[in-house]
Amino acid sequence: MAKKIIVGNWKMNPTTPREAKELFQKIKRKSAKLKKVTTVICPPAIYLPIFAGKNGNLKLGAQDAYFERQGAFTGRISSAMYKYMGAQYVILGHSEMRRAGETERVVNQKIKAALKEGLKVILCIGENERDSGGVYLKFLQGQLKTGLAKIPRANLKNITIAYEPVWAVGKKAKAVDTPEDFLHNKLFIRKVLVGIAGPKAGLTVPIIYGGSVNIENDDGFIKKGEADGLLIGRESLNADHFVNTLSMVENL
Ligand code: PEP
Repeated sequence: MAKKIIVGNWKMNPTTPREAKELFQKIKRKSAKLKKVTTVICPPAIYLPIFAGKNGNLKLGAQDAYFERQGAFTGRISSAMYKYMGAQYVILGHSEMRRAGETERVVNQKIKAALKEGLKVILCIGENERDSGGVYLKFLQGQLKTGLAKIPRANLKNITIAYEPVWAVGKKAKAVDTPEDFLHNKLFIRKVLVGIAGPKAGLTVPIIYGGSVNIENDDGFIKKGEADGLLIGRESLNADHFVNTLSMVENL
C-alpha cells in the first residue's frame, strides 16, 4: 500500500531558530520510526539550511516558489534555489497565496518551474464557499484544469493534490469539513484528474485533506474520508499533537 503523506505547513512560524530546531528535532525523532508515513515539513525558507541534510523519512518542503529561475525579482525564491537548499517538495497555490493575488495562471507557471527543477508539488485547491447545488465542484474542476494545463502526464507522479476548502483553513476558519464530504470531493477530484490525464496517471495522484486538522478529527479524514494524507497548519506547530497524528496514521 502507498505511504500516507503528512505535511506540516509552519507558515511564518516559529519566531526563533531555537524554537524551530526544537520542534524539528521532535518530529524527526518520531519520523525515523515510521514505515507507512512520509512526513514533509515546510518551514519558513530561512530555516531550511538549518535542517538540510540526512533526515531519513522526514522530507523538507517550501511553502511557495517563484516561477523564474533567477533575476530581478525582489523577495522571491526560485524552485532551483529551494532544491539546492535541501527541499524536495513545494506547496503551490496555497489559499493564503491566492488571497494575496496569486492567479491560476501563475500557479500553473510555478508548478511547471518546480517540476522542471525536480521538486514534488503539493497543489492546493479549494472553494471559498460551499454551496448545496454543487457549483463549487465546477470551481475545483477549473482550478485543476488551469493548474495542470500543459503538464505532461508522466509528471503527474510528482504531484499531490491537497484539497483545502478555504473556509476551513486557518485560525478564522468557519468550520471543518467532514470526512464524508471529503470523500465525496475526493472522488470528484479523482474523476477530474482521470479526465485530464487518463486513468494511468490520474488514478495514482495522492489526494490529501487540509483545513483545521487536529488530534480530534485527523483519524476521521484518513479512515472514513480515505484521505491519502493530511496537510496540517496550526497543529504542525505543536510537536506533541503533530507526532500524535503521525503515530495514528502509522498504526492504522
Ligand atoms: C494550511 O495552512 O494549509 C492549513 C490547513 O492550516 P490549518 O491546519 O491551520 O487550518
